[in-house]
Amino acid sequence: MSVDCVFCQIIGGKIPTKIIYKDNLISVFEDIDPIAPIHYLLVPNRHIPSLNEIDAEDAGLLSHLVLVAKDFAVHTGISATGYRLMINTGKDGSQTVDHLHMHLIGGRKLLGRIVS
Ligand code: AMP
Ligand code: ZN
Repeated sequence: MSVDCVFCQIIGGKIPTKIIYKDNLISVFEDIDPIAPIHYLLVPNRHIPSLNEIDAEDAGLLSHLVLVAKDFAVHTGISATGYRLMINTGKDGSQTVDHLHMHLIGGRKLLGRIVS
């Protein structure tokens, strides 16, 4: 828990946000500024600043994030049409919240290989 971290505050119930899924490892909620009809954030409950702080011991956490994202894609009906999982990291990766998170984005045709 980091007191000045917005995602820690959401997970800890200090910022009212509808948590749509939570287990012992991760929480899922809607992005406040969605770029597509489906835009969820999958967030470790533990404060991890970015992918740079992940090591081999976190392999289970990372695979869990991906598997839960896939389940959400199935249950929201976008798995057939397609979707994107994204982990922005650091300044050049345009990470704006320093608590590791994975975006699940879908429900419309996303731009292809080149994304600014
Ligand atoms: P990133 O740019 O990859 O760090 O993504 C951070 C995401 O967090 C952005 O898409 C924001 O819209 C989203 N975000 C920031 N604050 C909140 C919040 N209070 N509730 C939900 N999503 C948020
Ligand atoms: Zn945090």
